[in-house]
Amino acid sequence: MTPIDGSVAQEEQQTVQEFYIPSYVIQDEIWEKENYREPAFASHGQIYFRASLPEEYRGTFGKHEIVHVMCQLRYQLYLDFIERVPEMLNFTAKEAGRIMEGAAEHCGIDLFNMSEDETIRLYDEINAILWGHIGSGKLFGLEEQVRRAFFDFDAYAAELRSIYEKFKHDRQAQFG
Ligand SMILES: [Zn+2]
Repeated sequence: MTPIDGSVAQEEQQTVQEFYIPSYVIQDEIWEKENYREPAFASHGQIYFRASLPEEYRGTFGKHEIVHVMCQLRYQLYLDFIERVPEMLNFTAKEAGRIMEGAAEHCGIDLFNMSEDETIRLYDEINAILWGHIGSGKLFGLEEQVRRAFFDFDAYAAELRSIYEKFKHDRQAQFG
């Protein structure tokens, strides 16, 4: 469906369009019938949004799903980054554990028994969650927690930002 003017879904779809990523806004009734747990998701490099998305998180949904698309399309810069994220986390801090647990629960992954593929999915989820908040300037009360979880949170955020911008640039060069 065409999203309603001024709606969160419309803004998220515009964000995604700048990356030339196909996206779809789905009516709430259909979304509920399909039993999708999340308000948005990415699958095979395409993004799906529920028509009504919470205003509070405006600006986070598209960015979150674009991170997943980088992973799904095997964007090399980003895959290399995923591999280095564990070194950036300070596992002696309980906040790092909490972030890992939150993402694991979200993905239905057992932290103590992860396959290689699940490990990638876990760190991809952490990046997607954090970039959604960082990129939209909506860290809310999370900031203190993430600063403790990373050795150098600013360096992590700056690198993720530059990969995201490079991905946008590459997509525009290819499809624009
Ligand atoms: Zn996600």
